[in-house]
Amino acid sequence: MELAPGLYNIAKHKMISVADAIREGGWMKGLQRMASAELLQSFVSLWHKVQQFSLNGEEDKITWNISANGNYSAKSAYEQQFIARIPMPRLLRVWKVKAESKVQFFIWTLIQNRLWTADRLQRRGWEHQATCCVCDQVLESANHIILGCPFAKEVWHLMANQFSNAATAALQSSSINTWWDKTFKLKKKGVLLDECTGAVYVAWNLWNKRNMRIFQNQRRSAAGVCSLIRDELGLLKEAWE
Ligand SMILES: [Zn+2]
Repeated sequence: MELAPGLYNIAKHKMISVADAIREGGWMKGLQRMASAELLQSFVSLWHKVQQFSLNGEEDKITWNISANGNYSAKSAYEQQFIARIPMPRLLRVWKVKAESKVQFFIWTLIQNRLWTADRLQRRGWEHQATCCVCDQVLESANHIILGCPFAKEVWHLMANQFSNAATAALQSSSINTWWDKTFKLKKKGVLLDECTGAVYVAWNLWNKRNMRIFQNQRRSAAGVCSLIRDELGLLKEAWE
């Protein structure tokens, strides 16, 4: 069926066993309807392959040809589902950053532009604010909340004394993807609280701040947000130590 689908189509006995097919050229019976050069070619090619094949008398057994040892495992079956996936290194990097899972998940969502910001709500015709709830200037987007909003810029500026490279990366990026590429480069092995982690927590707090404003009507100054970030990072560092 796989090696010569054309022949399989015209074969009379489709359910014949391998043993019966091999014995005395059983597979060739019923191929009288072969009527094209293509089928003939396919026939010759199959004939060559069959010549090299012999059954050894051993009983049939089922093997799992996905794993090297032939044994089934749930892991190999699970991995099989991802064979055709397109690798996205930008996304995979998220899990390498030292941060709590909820923050990693937030960044993972942010990079894919899946945060429920006003621009996405608007596209679906769902309830949303007409302009950014912080600066009241433009339609809110993830890009705006984290990078473009004057409030975000102020927070990044204020954080520069602790994370100067991370702040520069944010202030010089106009898209989340560029920001993330630059930010990930700031990750340092062996450093408990590197600039990449710092940047990730700034972004996380900018998002939280926006949510507090929308859902709890709580206002906080840029300096207030920065001190929250510093407190949070201080506690995390102690916990990680
Ligand atoms: Zn804004």
